[in-house]
Amino acid sequence: MSYFAGIKELPPDPLFGLKARFVADPRSDKVDLGIGAYRDNSGKPWILPAVRLAEAQLVKSPTYNHEYLSISGFEPFLNTASKVILGENSKALKEKRVVSQQSLSGTGALHVAGVFLKEFYTGEKTIYLSKPTWANHQQIFNTIGFKVDSYPYWNNDTKSLDLNGFLSTIKSAPSGSIFLLHACAHNPTGLDPTQEQWKQILKELDAKKHLVLFDSAYQGFASGDLDKDAFSIRYAIDENVLSTPVIICQSFAKNCGMYGERVGAIHVIPSPEANEPLNRAVKSQLNKIIRSEISNPPAYGSKIVSTILNDRALRQQWEADLVTMSSRIIKMRHKLQDLLVELGTPGTWDHIVNQTGMFSFTGLTPEMVARLEKTHGVYLVSSGRASVAGLNDGNVEKVAKAFDEVVR
Ligand code: PLP
Repeated sequence: MSYFAGIKELPPDPLFGLKARFVADPRSDKVDLGIGAYRDNSGKPWILPAVRLAEAQLVKSPTYNHEYLSISGFEPFLNTASKVILGENSKALKEKRVVSQQSLSGTGALHVAGVFLKEFYTGEKTIYLSKPTWANHQQIFNTIGFKVDSYPYWNNDTKSLDLNGFLSTIKSAPSGSIFLLHACAHNPTGLDPTQEQWKQILKELDAKKHLVLFDSAYQGFASGDLDKDAFSIRYAIDENVLSTPVIICQSFAKNCGMYGERVGAIHVIPSPEANEPLNRAVKSQLNKIIRSEISNPPAYGSKIVSTILNDRALRQQWEADLVTMSSRIIKMRHKLQDLLVELGTPGTWDHIVNQTGMFSFTGLTPEMVARLEKTHGVYLVSSGRASVAGLNDGNVEKVAKAFDEVVR
């Protein structure tokens, strides 16, 4: 008899399955626009100069070793990571209202947030995700046992934000629900609310006393400016717009190009006023989750990021690296749009340059995407999301011609 008789094989993860098909494709001119990882202009993974310098500095240090970190993580990393997201002059940090815990990158932060909220949140345990959203959001919160619902976000007719739909779901959701917001560079649409729209959204969220969970996976990737890309979070917290708890899930995978090192943090602001005993209780519970799941967070990546954040020259280099990455992506958006216009490809393509961050929601249908892969060796996920970081001077023309062929 089998002890696992009822077990069913699941289909491969759509994104990693796509990657496997790409790798197996023998065509030499294939193009990977699937996974959200930055590539340089020759299509290669890019180790940021700031990261290379920090690595060299770190391993030379007489105190460098591979000991365990504490359960909370590497304190010099946590102290500066919280300033990166909340701002050097954050009121919440000065008032000691922030509880920080190192996590396994952004995914780990979301998972810890979910486990914490499942056990301790006394409000409505339904989490609202944007429609569409990063596919893993649904899976992370379903696995923990949340009821998952959605709010309208993308208006496919206008290829713009469905602000009215978004606001009306905020109003109709049961008070005290949980809303997950992409802090910037929305995945998959590349469409962010304007600052005025953010103000409206956050005001309505507070009016219904919803708990806000910010997912910040792309700070610095949208505009190249860390401060600008943190607007939604800093406005919500520093202007005291939200009277409810706030949770921020922060990833350094993309903005440091350290995808595989799993560097991230969860920052919890349990209440709008300083509350030392509450903070200590929250910290201890976050520690317990980490201890039982991974014992303590990984050291290497957080030491690299901490080296960058705590050294003036390296920090400047990192900020320059962010501009290098974001401006190359913006350049590729323009090049692709120009080529499609030149080819007279049916449809409008302004959205490619109006969108921001790593991705473009192209508007291509699943059938067109399948044909792109089969006929042209151009790989993107079936929703039509393209990772613009996969484009370069050597392949953008091929991609534009392939788009043109499948659209006609
Ligand atoms: N959130 C969003 C919206 C993402 O797109 C990603 C990665 O693609 C993540 C979170 C988590 O990334 P990581 O776990 O690699 O930090």
